[in-house]
Amino acid sequence: MTNSRGIDVADLRARLSELAHNLYWTWHPDVAMLFAGIDSNAWRDSNHNPVTFLQKISDETLLERAIAMSLETRISSAFHLLKNYLNDEHTWAHSHAGALFTRPIAYFSMEFGLHESLPIYSGGLGILAGDHLKSASDLGAPLIGVGLLYGRGYFHQVLDNDGYQNERYPPVNRNQLPMRKLYNRDGSEVRVTIRLDHRHIQACVWEVVVGRIRLYLLDADVPENTTDDRTITTQLYGGDERVRIAQETLLGIGGFSLLETLGVKPGVIHLNEGHCAFAILEAVRQRMAEDGLGFIEAFREIKSCTVFTTHTPVEAGHDRFSAALMEEHLGWMREQLGLTQREFMALGRVNPLNDNETFCMTVLALKGSVKRNGVSHLHGRVSRKMWNGLFPDRPEDEVPIGHITNGVHVLSWLAPPMNQLLQRYTQREWEKHMCFPDAWSGIERINDQELWETHTILRHRLIEYVRRRIRETALGRGDRQTAEGAVSLLNPNILTIGFARRFATYKRAWLLFHERERLLRLLADAKHPVQFIFAGKAHPRDEAGKKIIREIVQFSRLPEVNGRVVFVEDYDYSVARHLVQGVDLWINNPIRPLEACGTSGQKVLLNGGLNLSVLDGWWAEAYDGKNGFAIGDGRVHANEKVQNERDAKALFDTLENEVIPLFYEQDEYNVPREWTRRMKHAILTLAWRFNADRMVMDYVTQCYLHAGGGVSAELK
Ligand SMILES: *Cc1c(COP(=O)(O)O)cnc(C)c1O
Repeated sequence: MTNSRGIDVADLRARLSELAHNLYWTWHPDVAMLFAGIDSNAWRDSNHNPVTFLQKISDETLLERAIAMSLETRISSAFHLLKNYLNDEHTWAHSHAGALFTRPIAYFSMEFGLHESLPIYSGGLGILAGDHLKSASDLGAPLIGVGLLYGRGYFHQVLDNDGYQNERYPPVNRNQLPMRKLYNRDGSEVRVTIRLDHRHIQACVWEVVVGRIRLYLLDADVPENTTDDRTITTQLYGGDERVRIAQETLLGIGGFSLLETLGVKPGVIHLNEGHCAFAILEAVRQRMAEDGLGFIEAFREIKSCTVFTTHTPVEAGHDRFSAALMEEHLGWMREQLGLTQREFMALGRVNPLNDNETFCMTVLALKGSVKRNGVSHLHGRVSRKMWNGLFPDRPEDEVPIGHITNGVHVLSWLAPPMNQLLQRYTQREWEKHMCFPDAWSGIERINDQELWETHTILRHRLIEYVRRRIRETALGRGDRQTAEGAVSLLNPNILTIGFARRFATYKRAWLLFHERERLLRLLADAKHPVQFIFAGKAHPRDEAGKKIIREIVQFSRLPEVNGRVVFVEDYDYSVARHLVQGVDLWINNPIRPLEACGTSGQKVLLNGGLNLSVLDGWWAEAYDGKNGFAIGDGRVHANEKVQNERDAKALFDTLENEVIPLFYEQDEYNVPREWTRRMKHAILTLAWRFNADRMVMDYVTQCYLHAGGGVSAELK
């Protein structure tokens, strides 16, 4: 179909679809705005998924909008941007990591959080992996991602009228995700086959293009598998231990053998958390088969090119499998490696002689890697203590586990208006140098009023978004009263505080409610009003977490709360993006030292929000007394009850005595001068350090180059 001006609609569609299939658009609003500009309601209804969106838009609308918005010209310029990006040969990696170009890094992760339209993540671990890929792309680092495609993703949170969390697992429509199935030259599907006990399981492969980076996702839902086996990759973190071991076998062993199928010989294996550690076994098996090496030699070789990042400072968070389960599922692998059962189990045991120890994936990863790291300075220390038993001849501080602090992918989390403001005050090609302090130094010159106005716009947008979400979710459960009241919830001109994260016990979402009277007093203050936005999912089996959510929802409905506390349902990438861009203050109050790093506060500071946090994870190394606020002083009391009381008191003291007065100390133009100074100081001192470009550079220089270069000495 063409129109009178000769615009060919099939051609338009094809070109838009091409753009949709490189996730480059997720961090380049100019490209995403193409879709939004065609029909902003349809764009929102499709959950910002351009593939679904294009399927929804009629030819007539497309043609009509093509003329109205000069679509062809804009598509051409989007392609121009993308091509320049893809063909740029002056990247950081070209000049600093040349040795990696012959053999790329294979990056394994159980989850990847790249965008709300691709539901293959649950929380921080996945978002971190997604940000890692995006920064690797920006830096031009040769890296390939390997993960799983989940037929029903992670659960959606639906609250009932009481505020109790129910879980929904709607199936994803694979043809509506921004990815493509991988085919061989002869037109057949690329398949991976793994063995599990006595059966074989196949998986097809989906390719997600993330700028310059390829991410491959294995999917067991193929007709050749039994009905049961087709469900192996249905849910992220769902199912029992049998499903879990099958998933991890597919990810590690299947993922590594996929690379061989594709003709990729990785020079570095990066295991993002222990779930994917079986990749080591397959790599060793291949080495033995290729060169006739013995197990010990092959293991030493693979170890010398493996990097492992641990994320979990709590014992229960590490995957463990019984000897029986291991033998049943991976006995065939053990035989191919030429190991006895005891030798095989020893790979996952702290004490190889203890037959009662289960097989721990983290232990396998620690034993099978040459570079190991935690994800913040403090978490490195915690990990050295935790795993001292694996290195019994070393004192705790010489346990070979270092740290690389997590960072966030700036362009994915920075609001476009804030980006435009920064562009005006920073040097040219600022986005290419953002891990250097100089790139940000121009911020000092930003006019306070301009900064404040920009942030105020973002707060207004957040409030609009929250009201809309609350209206829609209330309508969804037939709660007309809440839906109708949503327009008057919150006030876009008052101090807006966010708290959003998984409702894991250690994150203590209830801490603010620990001093209920004080909270009610803050909410009733007419002169210095505050409001709170909560969001987060509890694990499906975490009844305590679900009860806390219900309490917050019920609290939010009290007449004396006056619509100043809201709970936004179904925390995901999109909710997170809106929240971190619009809040004034972000509260984080985990039990120190259980927050390995935490990254949401890093997203907040980029957008001019300030952090109020326990000195845990990244904040323990970030806080300088003026770039945000601290809860407590980092001391830990042995009695948890005392600690909770102390932290709750410190939280309210800081809110009442520091945060609120500072925010409302506004001049005749309604600009809080001291507050905006802190905003600038936070960006200036923190943005260059806590971003994913810096993080990936650290991985390249401290880990990948050593591992890929074949340096087998253990360097901490
Ligand atoms: C950033 C992010 C996280 C991680 O935040 P924490 O500070 O580690 O809690 C979790 N979920 C989503 C959706 C995020 O965007």
